[in-house]
Amino acid sequence: MLRKIDQLIDELDAWLRFHKKMGLEALPASPGVKSFISSTDNSLINAKDAFTKPPGSLEALQKAALECTRCRLHETRHNVVFGEGPANARLMLVGEAPGKEEDLTGRPFVGASGQLLTKMLNAIEIDRQEVFITSILKCRPPGNRAPKADEIRACMPILMTQIELIRPKLILALGNVAAHNLLNTKEGLKKLRGKFHSLNGIKLLVTYHPAYILRFAGQRQKALKIEAWNDLQLLQREYKKLEV
Ligand code: SF4
Repeated sequence: MLRKIDQLIDELDAWLRFHKKMGLEALPASPGVKSFISSTDNSLINAKDAFTKPPGSLEALQKAALECTRCRLHETRHNVVFGEGPANARLMLVGEAPGKEEDLTGRPFVGASGQLLTKMLNAIEIDRQEVFITSILKCRPPGNRAPKADEIRACMPILMTQIELIRPKLILALGNVAAHNLLNTKEGLKKLRGKFHSLNGIKLLVTYHPAYILRFAGQRQKALKIEAWNDLQLLQREYKKLEV
């Protein structure tokens, strides 16, 4: 798909300004930069190639993100939900986007799906405080609508820089939006679940988003929980190996 040069210039300009704001004075001609400049498809930031020299600290990144106006969602948000957890977390969880309660509190996964997420982690003996939790978008789409492609493109550099700075050993992608954008694929969750993928050497596992599980009731919800449990056991096994 061809992209208009004017649009590319605007996006490149915004991307470079964003990094400058975070204190970066030079960019290596990394595959990420080349990928950005030569991108002709929807994934302007190819997650696999977007690693560039980290611009300072996680705090500096957070400060810049809290002032971000790179997409229309800044007009309707109450808070930027940057994410939370240790700066050296071994496990990173990536969801889709903040919901109503996350938008109001500025914290990730605090609503009903957050409670389920905490239970899921507890079930595999992982304390929520040990992990860094964030999402593809840092601002809430109005009415919890699905994220738009240009919003994801605008926001991905923040997530990719978080990953670069935190350098987790494991990533758990929650739901389609996280999985598709981190792995740069359109494959369904059925095919993506149940095995580890690699994101620049970091092991990445895909499972259902807790909000998706909660959308159903009865047997269907139970079946999804069992499938998620199978994924989480895979995660637990890898996580435990990190302690050795
Ligand atoms: S969603 Fe991301 S890119 Fe858009 S305004 Fe919020 S922080 Fe910036």
